[in-house]
Amino acid sequence: MKDCLFCKIVAGEIPSTKVYEDEKVYAFLDIDPKAPFHAIVIPKEHITSAAEISSDNSSLIAAVFEAIAKIAKNENLEKGFRVVNNCGEEGGQTVGHIHFHLLARRNLGWPPG
Ligand code: AMP
Ligand code: ZN
Repeated sequence: MKDCLFCKIVAGEIPSTKVYEDEKVYAFLDIDPKAPFHAIVIPKEHITSAAEISSDNSSLIAAVFEAIAKIAKNENLEKGFRVVNNCGEEGGQTVGHIHFHLLARRNLGWPPG
């Protein structure tokens, strides 16, 4: 989608540090990490937010979670990790392309702040 930051990252128009890629999914390191390991995992196809998930596009979300399991193995995150999705204004979403934060390598605590 035109003028979408993460679509531009997928297209290679904006640089990123890739940690994983397949036909449907792209993952890269967060530019402002909130944990020692912090990747952003996205479907290559533009979906605005979790509020837009439907039976038409949920296979892309399944692909994201399959990718997350592979990244966790590749990155040796056997001690655990957290997956976070911020949705909409009050959910703290700042980029309008659905994305899942994959956070690891510190004790993340619960409940989150
Ligand atoms: P959210 O606040 O859930 O929408 O998350 C957006 C995330 O994207 C934030 O953690 C930002 O640090 C990250 N981010 C923004 N721009 C870039 C970029 N160019 N490369 C990597 N991560 C980015
Ligand atoms: Zn997009």
